[in-house]
Amino acid sequence: MKPYGVNELRKMFLEFFESKGHLAMKSFSLIPHNDKSLLLINSGMAPLKPYFTGAEIPPRRRVTTCQKCIRTGDIENVGKTARHGTFFEMLGNFSFGDYFKREAIHWTWEFLTEAVGLDPDRLYPSVYLEDDEAFDIWNKEIGIPAERIFRFGKEDNFWEHGAGPCGPCSEVYYDRGERYGCGRPDCTVGCDCDRYMEIWNDVFTQFDNDGNNHYTELEQKNIDTGMGLERLASVVQDVDSIFDVDTVRALRDKVCGFAHAEYKKDENKDVSIRLITDHIRSATFMISDGIMPTNEGRGYVLRRLIRRAARHGRLLGIEGKFLARLSETVIEGSKDGYPELEEKKSFIFKVLTQEEEKFNKTIDQGLSILADLEAQMQKEGTKVLSGENTFKLYDTYGFPVDLTREILEEKGFSIDEEGFKAAMEEQRVKAREARAVTNYMGADATVYDEIDANVTTEFVGYDKLSYESKITVLATESELAEALTEGENGTIFVEKTPFYATMGGQQGDTGVIRTADGEFEVRDTIKLLGGKVGHVGRMTKGMLKVSDAAVLEVCDKGRTATCKNHSATHLLQKALKTVLGSHVEQKGSLVTPDRLRFDFSHFEAMTADELEKVEALVNEEIKASLPVVTEVMNLEEAKKTGAMALFGEKYEEDVRVVSMGDFSKELCGGTHVANTGVITAFKIVSEAGIAAGVRRIEALTGDGVFAYYRELEQKLSEAARAAKATPANLTEKIEHLQAEIKELRSENDALKSKLAKDALGDVMDQVKEIGGVKLLAAKLENVDMNGLRELGDQLKEKLGEGIVVLASAVDGKVSLMATATDGAQKKGAHAGNLIKAVAGLVGGGGGGRPGMAQAGGKNPDGMDAAIKKAAEVVAEQVK
Ligand SMILES: [Zn+2]
Ligand SMILES: [Zn+2]
Repeated sequence: MKPYGVNELRKMFLEFFESKGHLAMKSFSLIPHNDKSLLLINSGMAPLKPYFTGAEIPPRRRVTTCQKCIRTGDIENVGKTARHGTFFEMLGNFSFGDYFKREAIHWTWEFLTEAVGLDPDRLYPSVYLEDDEAFDIWNKEIGIPAERIFRFGKEDNFWEHGAGPCGPCSEVYYDRGERYGCGRPDCTVGCDCDRYMEIWNDVFTQFDNDGNNHYTELEQKNIDTGMGLERLASVVQDVDSIFDVDTVRALRDKVCGFAHAEYKKDENKDVSIRLITDHIRSATFMISDGIMPTNEGRGYVLRRLIRRAARHGRLLGIEGKFLARLSETVIEGSKDGYPELEEKKSFIFKVLTQEEEKFNKTIDQGLSILADLEAQMQKEGTKVLSGENTFKLYDTYGFPVDLTREILEEKGFSIDEEGFKAAMEEQRVKAREARAVTNYMGADATVYDEIDANVTTEFVGYDKLSYESKITVLATESELAEALTEGENGTIFVEKTPFYATMGGQQGDTGVIRTADGEFEVRDTIKLLGGKVGHVGRMTKGMLKVSDAAVLEVCDKGRTATCKNHSATHLLQKALKTVLGSHVEQKGSLVTPDRLRFDFSHFEAMTADELEKVEALVNEEIKASLPVVTEVMNLEEAKKTGAMALFGEKYEEDVRVVSMGDFSKELCGGTHVANTGVITAFKIVSEAGIAAGVRRIEALTGDGVFAYYRELEQKLSEAARAAKATPANLTEKIEHLQAEIKELRSENDALKSKLAKDALGDVMDQVKEIGGVKLLAAKLENVDMNGLRELGDQLKEKLGEGIVVLASAVDGKVSLMATATDGAQKKGAHAGNLIKAVAGLVGGGGGGRPGMAQAGGKNPDGMDAAIKKAAEVVAEQVK
């Protein structure tokens, strides 16, 4: 067997699977794409998830990759052993519903024994204990004796994560020989020692777990394999660990050189040597993918890796900054498989060096404070650093808490974790309350204060919508940055921009900024103090770095629409002065791609006639296709030309004067059409007062006018359809309908009163005489309170003198009414008291005057009793 190098093995693997019909894809970025569940790509399979779930169609059903991976779950152990590391490369071949177990196992064997030339007698496969299919392939087809194939349980040889696709796997172990073994008599495959090393894992995704461990066969079966490249190399090169394989060793040796130390001479130093060797690899690859050291998420992982490496450099006595120089060796060793490392070389060095400098500054200060704290703890006889002090180190001196923890641990101390968390939370609440000043994109306004005052931006967008310029400053939402990466919100500054920043009522441009590596969507352009223009938005692809050459492209459609609206405000202002009088002054304006708004001084609402005149005048000047000319001149000169200026506005020494033929001349810094004809059309959609003496007009131009009319037309058609008419005869139809409604209404009223009379029937038969007073108490069908009152009046008339009590229910609601004539009242009758006495029987209450009273109730069944009781009450009243 030849001791192939890491770069050779990677190439051999990819070429081997290409020869088996696989598409060799470039390693994916360490930043997961559209996957919020993961901070960093940690396996060959992770970036291919959408292909496995069917969310995306793979470019081919057989794919092979060598994927850069980072795992930080074991970061505390990195360095302490030679087994742990955060960075590794993972080789893999994948089948998306194409080949399955048979091919996968055959190719595993072929690659390991024939391509690489590993000794077949030292290889041991393992299978899941119920997977006879895989066992038979190894046994009968490959020819491995049954006693050399190991069957393991679910824990070792079955891959699943709760519900969803899962399946058995088959691993291949390599016997590294007795010198790596533990020497126990039962030492064999599966032993914890270093003798039998797992080098390959084939996962057969063939089942679906419904979440209750009921397994059904998947229709599309997948293959997902994984093999650590460095691990394979350590076997092939027959070296102790991944820290001894060619490329990693070159790096390790360089660390030793810097430290004037020899590997494997001093266990304490070895810990630091391994830690630096591992961490600088991770850091280099992370930066090449655009991750920047920050205090959050993956940015914090990077910061931690860099700072840990820097600190262990100090422990080894390395003087000065050394991380960039180590990174050079990482790049040299890996650029074969990852050309982006070479391309981003100077950027990587810059980021590493800056972070190292920042760290060195804080660490000197932090270490001396920590030493004081240690002495104090010793004196007080405590072993735990208070949460308050831990937080102070972190917050005031920027000393990373994991470093505090690590340094203290080395000396047998610890920190009060709970106390630290509490202090941290308290700070967070305070910060949230204090952060009042933010712009609408959520960035701290103060971020922009940190920008060098010498940075300015020149606007070149009056006649250009696309321009190439250099990126001068980048900012995330919370700090200035060397780079922005996919998914981040931020602000970009360049030397020269075609983007118009919100100013003078005109809204800022939107568009795209592109470099060779990335794309940024500009959602707003803002003007900042000191002549800076910020392009605010979001990274949609890749990464952007300071000093990159960028192509800035303004959204053509948006800008054109904005120009039309802006030029139209100039025409509108002049038209208003012409129609309403010279007292009209601009009080404000807003120009966006969708519409324009113009505020002006005037003391009454405009009449329909005035509005029509203004609109017609503007449209006339549009039809006249007046050339729009811009001249830059001295302010005094400009005023002499009679150009309209905003009253009270402070202008620069040199101003832009925008004229539209002889019709309008205004001081203006905005963007305009080249000719008024381009505006096409102008339409006022509203006019209203917004303050004493100030009116506001909202209007549309160009396509906006057509869209407006189209919408009106649509509404008109809908209205006509609803009225069963055409738009042309709609008015006539509505007039006709209204006449019909009027007629029906009067018919309806007549019918109603007839119905009420009918309900009365021969009610007059029920008149009784009690104590010389006539009483008519009756229950009627389906009459509401208004109806009862009307009937009551009629009946009272018929009675001449007396009392009328009526009850009726509509939909379960009872109405009760009583009325008494003057004569009856003189004899003692009182309608109010009468109602009060009987309302309870219909489940309600009420009352009223002696002559008229009413009540409501919820119990129709009580109406008969109420009528009966009325007679008794009257008898009492007139006694
Ligand atoms: Zn063992
Ligand atoms: Zn203007």
